[in-house]
Amino acid sequence: MGNLHVNFTIQAVMINRLKIGHSRLTHSYLLSGEDQPTCTKCDTVLTVKHILLDCPELWDVQLKYFTASSLKDIFESVDNQSIIGLLKTLIFIINCSACYQYFILAIKP
Ligand SMILES: [Zn+2]
Repeated sequence: MGNLHVNFTIQAVMINRLKIGHSRLTHSYLLSGEDQPTCTKCDTVLTVKHILLDCPELWDVQLKYFTASSLKDIFESVDNQSIIGLLKTLIFIINCSACYQYFILAIKP
């Protein structure tokens, strides 16, 4: 995986997409007819909420960036850089090519 350099404007765009929750990662399967992606760590259906909050296999890493009880909590109280930092780390850890593709698409201007 390449070194991802994300500027502030693009960070804001990414955060907005995450807030909406309609990411390519979790919704492209609806259009493509492929199986819904699952988490490579715990085999649960992969969503933005799962990656940022719910995956029990990723809790240790999540705690290094923030503690939150809901997505709303994250987006209201955690700064964008921490969210992006966590995402980069998690995508590397779960080693999911769909996640990585999504991340690349999301940061395109
Ligand atoms: Zn998981």
